[in-house]
Amino acid sequence: MFQSSGHLIALSALWLHVVAIAGCADPGSVSTSPRADAERTSIRRTISDTTEPLRNWKYVVLHHTATTTGDVDSIDNVHKQRRDSKGRPWRGIGYHFVIGNGQGMPDGAVEATFRWTDQLDGAHAGSLAYNQHGIGICLVGNFEDAPPTPAQLRATYLLMQELGHQFALTEEQILRHGDLKATACPGRLFPYAELVQAYSHTQPRVAETPGAPHKDRVLPVSAKFIKEGSHVVPIQSPQSPRD
Ligand SMILES: [Zn+2]
Repeated sequence: MFQSSGHLIALSALWLHVVAIAGCADPGSVSTSPRADAERTSIRRTISDTTEPLRNWKYVVLHHTATTTGDVDSIDNVHKQRRDSKGRPWRGIGYHFVIGNGQGMPDGAVEATFRWTDQLDGAHAGSLAYNQHGIGICLVGNFEDAPPTPAQLRATYLLMQELGHQFALTEEQILRHGDLKATACPGRLFPYAELVQAYSHTQPRVAETPGAPHKDRVLPVSAKFIKEGSHVVPIQSPQSPRD
């Protein structure tokens, strides 16, 4: 079997490394190293570099490319071949952010696509609502076969923190593609539980911040509803009507 105990130990060690470097602090305050500071600054710059005012995003949806190599251009080329449920070609890459693995893009590099800079619906979730309200983040790699690199995990964690802080997302609003439709994406070796657990320690809970301006942004549904609700949305139209 591929998933040996040795593999799990390696993944655990890798995760501790990520948390140690990224720090489990409030995203606006303490961090643990100049490297994390620099990465956080770079990610903040990437997030703020838009041509349109930021939309009121409600979810993050995590994906993998299911390929060993890739970058924004290669994914863009593939997605331009796709057509929506009405036969119209996609406008290009369906994700808002891509995180490289050193094969096609620098390891841990976070790149925004036109979907983010122009604040457009995504074409990644398999449901209209989650394409409209969900920020699609794709990590290069096939995490059915191997886990993300430490640099990718660190970048993912920092990007989740920054976006989560910006849009006041709870951990229930951090989703995997597989939570929304029948897909293995982002792969069985993607450490979602660990990421969300670490993330939850960094976010203000809605119940603890009465009157906070972000309170009404949180949808009045439970995580259970979000998960179950995914079964009632059409899964055969993996893009918005415009894509
Ligand atoms: Zn996916």
